[in-house]
Order: sequence, then structure tokens, then C-alpha cells
Amino acid sequence: MAHHVRPTTGVSAFNRGMKSVLIVGASIAGPALAWWLHRYGFEVTVVERAPALLPGGYKVDIRGAALDVVAQMGLKDRLEGLGTDMRFMSFVNSTGRRLVDVRADLFMGRGEADLEVMRGDLSQILYDETRANVDYRFGDTVTGLNAVTGEVTFEHADAQSYDVVIGADGLHSTVRRLAVAGDGVHDLGHLVSIATVPNHLELDRWELIYSVPGRTVNLYSTARDTDAKVLFLFSADQPYERQDTEQQLRILNTTFRGAGWETDRLLEAAATSDDFYFDTVSQVQLDRYSVDRVSLVGDAAYCPSFASGQGTSLALVGAYVLAGELSRSTPATAFPAYEQLMRPYVARNLKLGRDNLGRMISKSPLQSWMGAMMLRVLPKLPLKDTLVAKVTQPIHDASRAIELPSYQTVS
Ligand SMILES: Cc1cc2nc3c(=O)[nH]c(=O)nc-3n(C[C@H](O)[C@H](O)[C@H](O)COP(=O)(O)OP(=O)(O)OC[C@H]3O[C@@H](n4cnc5c(N)ncnc54)[C@H](O)[C@@H]3O)c2cc1C
Repeated sequence: MAHHVRPTTGVSAFNRGMKSVLIVGASIAGPALAWWLHRYGFEVTVVERAPALLPGGYKVDIRGAALDVVAQMGLKDRLEGLGTDMRFMSFVNSTGRRLVDVRADLFMGRGEADLEVMRGDLSQILYDETRANVDYRFGDTVTGLNAVTGEVTFEHADAQSYDVVIGADGLHSTVRRLAVAGDGVHDLGHLVSIATVPNHLELDRWELIYSVPGRTVNLYSTARDTDAKVLFLFSADQPYERQDTEQQLRILNTTFRGAGWETDRLLEAAATSDDFYFDTVSQVQLDRYSVDRVSLVGDAAYCPSFASGQGTSLALVGAYVLAGELSRSTPATAFPAYEQLMRPYVARNLKLGRDNLGRMISKSPLQSWMGAMMLRVLPKLPLKDTLVAKVTQPIHDASRAIELPSYQTVS
């Protein structure tokens, strides 16, 4: 692993007083940051709006620099044990006939060392690893925030002051809106919905993809999962209420009902699933990640969109760098250092998200057909490896586009 070792002055004056940190959001970035901050001697509180840790979500990749981070956290073996172990992806037509089967690693551009796990499993591991040392408060949120004094008001708990406040509260971050920047969300013109559904096609580590212009349905089941996950991705710019699941289901129905294949059955199953997820495909692009005592990490700061396949890796790497910089100095120095290290890496991965989305959804029947044909003939082409490398190289390059500093741990 390439380490860029900077001289360290040991436990910083800022850290020595066991400074208090409030993290908003307990998904991936929040618990990962809590893990590192506790290790550096900070007192960490995490407030999460949901009443308990949220289950669900799609399979997520851990690649490149993020692999080094989970290795340093001692989590690599456990995550490997929870790997999805996907074998094949098949494109199906409206009657369910498999048009082409592609090896999963070829399709996803997965390198040998890369990990793929379920988002809910990763979140649970990070929570389990930190819950004994971190004060988790579920079912509450931040209503006001003074970035200069660090005073925070909550929906339920009494107001309190913290030395540092970090927003790890995702794409629609409240901390970002309250303290750092107005918005910074760039809508990529698509909506995505994900739900756990019965595995009625008895898929075994196999993913099926059904694509018609402007709309794609994916269905898969991973290792050890008795259920399946369905993903609906579609071009749309209509507004919707984030808390209104009924409305979101209506949008899905209007868009997908009668689209062919198993779509109608999957719509019904998604409607009764208990982890229904619905969101815009968006990126976050900010002029700055921090102000005074407040900073952002993960999707709240630099969501690359699910199409990049890199949101989780960015969150893990961001947590490592932000905590490491805070272990060395005050926010006034640590926050700009964190931002400077992250910027080029973030830019590469945001570009990847925009480029990938174009490939995930076809604009015309001809484009769908050509995509399927390309994948069908690919394994037989003499220059197969060169062609695959051309598609997968940008993913590997983006995942490694940061040199992780080596930070000293408080003993
Ligand atoms: C239930 C769920 C399912 C997901 N499924 C997928 C998926 O299938 N594919 C994919 O690519 N990405 C998915 N994501 C997003 C993915 O987790 C992130 O892209 C990535 O892992 C970075 O994580 P994050 O911790 O920065 O943000 P997120 O995972 O979005 O987590 C943000 C957390 O903050 C909490 N929160 C939000 N606002 C507040 C507030 N005001 N106060 C307190 N807490 C708040 C949220 O409840 C959530 O727990 C999902 C996220 C969630 C929460």
C-alpha cells in the first residue's frame, strides 16, 4: 500500500482535551468516522434521524484506496466473508428469454481484490464495531447549528455545544443546508428505487437486467440471501416528496406497469417490502466542504451518485482522512487539509458517475439492442481483454486517485 507518511507531532493539543464531536447520520460515513475518531481519543456522539439503524440498500463496492482503509480497520476478512459472490449477469427480453450471459466480474469491472457487500451489512458491521464506545442517539435530528460556537439544537434532546460537528447525513444533508452551503445537489435526471422482494425466479448469485428505452429493471439474489433485490432506474425529472412512500409507489407504477417481463409482479412485491428505497440520481458538488467548526463527509459532501459505484468507497476514505487530519490539528488546519487531499479523488469519481449513468440506461431500442449484442460477442473477440480494460480502467484509476497519508494512533 502506498503510504505518504507525513511527520507527526503525536497527539495534538486539540485532541488532548478529549474534544467532543457530533456526527449527524449513522449509515456508512458516520459510523466509519466515529470508528477512527474514537481511536484518536475523541468523544463521539452520533445522532441518526431513523429510529434504528436502517437496513437495506443495494450491493456496494469497496475498491482501491477504500480497501486499504477497511484493511487498516481490521474488517477486511469479515467483509470478504459477507461478499455477494455474484456469478453472472444476464440481459433478458420482455418474455424473460436470456439474451446474453456475462460473468459478473467482467460486467462490473471488478478487480480481484475488490469487495462487494450489501450496504446494510456494511452499515451493521461499522455500527457493531463502534457502539460500545460511541454515544448513538436514534430517532432525533439537528434543527439548528451555529458553526462558530458549535451549539446545536435537536428535535428532541436539549441543545448542546460540540467542538466539532460533522454532517454524515447523505445526499439531502441537513448539516450542509444549515451551515456549509445552500445546496450543491446536481440532479442527473433519473430516479432510482430499490427494494427487497421474494426470490420468485430462484436466482442464485445471478442478476437479470431488463432494459427498455428510459427504463431499466434489475433483479438479483446474492450469496446467503434467500430473498432478491429489485432496482428500478428511470429517466425522470418530476418532483416528489421524500417522505411520501405512497406517492413514490404511484410514480413507479405509472412509469413501469405493463413494461413487460416480470415488471408488474416486481412492482407489487416492492410495494409491500419493508426496506423500500427511492431517491433521485444526483451528485453533490460543493465549493467547500467545511466552515468554522463544521464539516461534511460521504454523500453529504461529495455524493458521486449510485451510478459511479464509488459512493461507499468515498465515504470510507473520506472518514479516514477527515479523522486523521483532526487527530493532528484544529479544524482550522485539519478541514482545509482534508479537502485538499480529497478534491482530486472526488473529481475523478464524480466524472465516473456521470459517464456510467449514460451506459446504464438506454435512450432508444437500437441502443438497447447494440449494448446487448456487444456484450454477446465480446467474449469471442480477439481483443477482448483490451476492450474490457478500456471500460474498467477508469474505475480502477478513480478508485486509487488518492495517496492515503499515514496517521498516528493515540496509544
Ligand atoms: C437505507 C439506505 C439505502 C441505500 N441504498 C443504496 C443503494 O442501494 N445503492 C447505493 O449506491 N447507495 C445506497 N444508499 C446510499 C449509500 O449508502 C451512500 O451512497 C454511501 O454509502 C455513502 O454513505 P453516507 O453514509 O455518506 O450516506 P447515506 O448512506 O445516505 O446515509 C445518511 C444517513 O444519515 C441519516 N440522516 C439523513 N438526514 C438526517 C438528519 N437530518 N438527521 C439525522 N440523520 C439523518 C440517514 O437516515 C442515513 O442513515 C443507501 C442509503 C440508505 C440510508
